[in-house]
Amino acid sequence: MGETNLAGDLHMHTTASDGTVSADRRIELANEAGIETIALTDHDILSEWVTEPSTHKDGVDVITGVEVRANLFDTKIEILGYYLDPTDPELLNMLERARRFRRDRNEQIVKNLNKVTDLSLSYKELSASVDGNLGRPHIADYLIEAGVVDSVGEAFGEYLAEGGAAYVPMERIPAAEVVSTIHGAGGVTSLAHPGRIRTDTETVKRMVEELAAVGLDGIETWYPYGQIRDSEYADIGVDDAHDLAEQYDLIPTGGSDCHGPDSGKFRLGEVGVSEEILSRLRKRADDYSGSN
Ligand code: AMP
Ligand code: FE
Ligand code: ZN
Repeated sequence: MGETNLAGDLHMHTTASDGTVSADRRIELANEAGIETIALTDHDILSEWVTEPSTHKDGVDVITGVEVRANLFDTKIEILGYYLDPTDPELLNMLERARRFRRDRNEQIVKNLNKVTDLSLSYKELSASVDGNLGRPHIADYLIEAGVVDSVGEAFGEYLAEGGAAYVPMERIPAAEVVSTIHGAGGVTSLAHPGRIRTDTETVKRMVEELAAVGLDGIETWYPYGQIRDSEYADIGVDDAHDLAEQYDLIPTGGSDCHGPDSGKFRLGEVGVSEEILSRLRKRADDYSGSN
């Protein structure tokens, strides 16, 4: 099952988080590819110039979105928000808090690395050396450059992954709070890539039930990881996500999770949604902003 009449790509990143191009370049690329609607969904941050829940720019409808790291059943999930009021103070506060959790965790990892290796790394220098969000992959690259390890896999295995010598968990905002804060900003919510959650399939189904009970609006159904079979993740494919959408009356959403040219994840417009889905999302957003 798929969406043949693709009208919108509702999941992508820019240099505001871990993408390789700016929001403006994204819009140019969408325009060139003939994609009428995109949503900018950076990790825990809004695009710098958005002032409205959606913007028509250079021939493209741009939805103000976000992808928020959240906690459910002690597991990391991500919740997408669409048609957000980018001036909503509670939303901005929550995103700032999520980014602070990341900063705190990274600072602690750097301290640990300085203890367990011969390095004397500076968190400030490290974070200044990357665009957007500093993450463990950047730290892994640094460890390779510094000659501490030979590969990203070794960097994670020895130091950065759970059980590694410098590992520090990152705090996460409870999922119900993420959903209600997005609603408070007039936004529509969707559970990002349910087949990309590090837990078993039954737990993901329980997660969807729990999230639906707190008002989740949608579930990402079309995304590029749909066919990946990996025992670390729940076994949820397109059909399963679609069944969950029907069971809990959720809007099936979709997008490419494109990280931009030269990211290894350049797939703008390869996956997305139809005009029918876009209009359901718009209608839901209208219901919320009308009630605020
Ligand atoms: P962070 O957001 O800083 O926690 O980093 C998460 C990213 O690190 C993930 O998106 C993966 O790309 C990468 N990652 C996580 N675990 C591993 C691993 N065991 N080996 C290689 N890369 C990993
Ligand atoms: Fe994600
Ligand atoms: Zn994403």
